[in-house]
Amino acid sequence: MMVTQAVDVIDASGHVDPSSPAPGQLEKIRRFVNTLDLEAGSDALTTPAALTAWLAAHDLLSNGAGGTASAAEVAQAVALREAFRAVLITHVQPAQDEPGVPPVPALRELAAGLPIQLAISDDGQVRAEPAADGATGSLTRLLLIAADAATTGTWTRLKVCGADDCRWAFYDRSPTKTGCWCTMSICGSRAKSRSYRRRAKRRPDRVSSEPA
Ligand SMILES: [Zn+2]
Repeated sequence: MMVTQAVDVIDASGHVDPSSPAPGQLEKIRRFVNTLDLEAGSDALTTPAALTAWLAAHDLLSNGAGGTASAAEVAQAVALREAFRAVLITHVQPAQDEPGVPPVPALRELAAGLPIQLAISDDGQVRAEPAADGATGSLTRLLLIAADAATTGTWTRLKVCGADDCRWAFYDRSPTKTGCWCTMSICGSRAKSRSYRRRAKRRPDRVSSEPA
């Protein structure tokens, strides 16, 4: 998806600015999910070198330890990305509306295979951290970011666009938390016409005055 312009936080039909960053570390998950651009057909995580570079660029590799990712880690990263995406769509619409693999078991299964340990800081604070270096450790770090977001209440604001040909991750900053789609000028054209029809049904008096 080409993100070329910012819009208001949310419009009356639930379209939001898809380039609006998530707060703090959660932005890393938003960007991780968006390494696959369904609309453009591009994927930034196709090789071990590409995965390693992406993780390093997002400060997710611990001191560069662990060397280049393996092919298995690329597969694991892609599986985690799509498990995240499947969960994030449930933040827009209930899971029972979504065909295919149930979102939570997929993420649960991946989480079970990622090594986490408890670390005690010098001042006695307990925190969870990855128990591996390299890409596996980085993927674990992403899951821990999701755990933090759940405790701060930001996790359910991280969503993916409800259009099945888009699924771009965005952070819903709207007071009502009702964002469901990318703004119409940015989202896929099929989604655009679909939501246009929906809006036309609902708000026939205002559609003609709004930008496409
Ligand atoms: Zn979209």
